[in-house]
Amino acid sequence: AIDIREVHKAFGSLHVLKGVSLTVMPGTVTVILGPSGSGKSTLLRMINQLETVSGGEIYVDGQLQGYKHEMHRGQDRLRRMSDHEIAEQRSRIGMVFQRFNLFPHKTVLENVMEAPVHVKGMSKADAKAEAVKDLTRVGMQNRLGHYPSELSGGQQQRVAIARAIAMHPDIMLFDEPTSALDPELVGEVLNVIRGLADDGMTMVVVTHEIAFAREVADQVVFMDGGVVVEKGGPEIIDNPESPRFRSFLASVL
Ligand code: ATP
Ligand code: MG
Repeated sequence: AIDIREVHKAFGSLHVLKGVSLTVMPGTVTVILGPSGSGKSTLLRMINQLETVSGGEIYVDGQLQGYKHEMHRGQDRLRRMSDHEIAEQRSRIGMVFQRFNLFPHKTVLENVMEAPVHVKGMSKADAKAEAVKDLTRVGMQNRLGHYPSELSGGQQQRVAIARAIAMHPDIMLFDEPTSALDPELVGEVLNVIRGLADDGMTMVVVTHEIAFAREVADQVVFMDGGVVVEKGGPEIIDNPESPRFRSFLASVL
């Protein structure tokens, strides 16, 4: 589970998140909606420790992100994790961004093998078998030797998803995974994400795809101005309570 408690984020004098609380239960899908600048990406990046927390706490599977319990002279105390420990904690969370972030000079297969070999120390043979399995899962098993530039945006994004799942994450975070795609390519990427949801992956998805949210989300969260304005089951999309959520939905539907 992800447990976000009263989280704040400031960049200098800019107060971007102003006390966000949110729980994501294991095996569920949370969709975050909200206008540009509302703090959605910042929140995702904080879950994955790509940004520090200015206030509040984020727990992942009961563990406070960035801190470790340690016995010191018979007393339990918290200490800040080392970069190495943070990297280890981060490797349990997969993240897919809006822009395809594949290595351009590596093939599809090499892209997916990279982290299992270099971060987990898996043998190349094992990493290859794993990569082929993950690429099959996203329907890219026939493009193993291609370079990213030889693929459509939707195909690149599916490889990015395979690359993330190759690390066997407990949680997947998606930050507008389809918003840089041509409309006809959106469906194939959403279908892959839907498949992960059906398999019980715990996910947080920032997207403007309302139909997807309605169909796949267990929880819908509407953020605006650095706060959670409204959250609930997918039915809130059709019955928004707050005027801000209502006008946001009118602008994207
Ligand atoms: P979008 O829908 O456009 O992606 P968002 O909801 O993801 O928007 P964020 O990217 O989280 O919004 O940004 C929230 C605010 O924080 C914005 O005003 C942004 O300019 C600011 N911000 C984000 N990252 C930084 C940074 N590293 N330094 C300074 N300001 C930042
Ligand atoms: Mg964003």
